[in-house]
Amino acid sequence: MAFRTDIFWKSACGRCPDCGAPIRAMGDQTGRFARLWDTPTHCAGCGMTLRRKEGFFLGAIVWNYGLTAFGVLPLVLVAYRLGWIGGDWAVRLAVGAIFVVPPLIHAFAWRLWIGTYYGFLPDQLPSGGRRLDD
Ligand SMILES: [Zn+2]
Repeated sequence: MAFRTDIFWKSACGRCPDCGAPIRAMGDQTGRFARLWDTPTHCAGCGMTLRRKEGFFLGAIVWNYGLTAFGVLPLVLVAYRLGWIGGDWAVRLAVGAIFVVPPLIHAFAWRLWIGTYYGFLPDQLPSGGRRLDD
């Protein structure tokens, strides 16, 4: 099983992992801020279901947690260790980060998860024969 990096990067960059079109239609009215946590249910180009049935979101949660716990919180620890902030501020920033960062990277985590899933299982893409309604 070879990981398809092209599928992963298409998805990570906001494109459909199957057709490569932007997942949002040109006239999409979703605000810029709301796009941080909103992932469309279907691809605007081919109609592929991006938000699949129950349980599929767990992969996005793993990405979200991983990016927060191992990407953002270490920055707070490094800032504390280097003496840029005190212990009280390190705690405040860490607690603030665990509440603020996950919603802000929600859509990005979804895209990473979709790219990971279809990168490992490209035969699950609609162009590979899977139904569009799942
Ligand atoms: Zn598509």
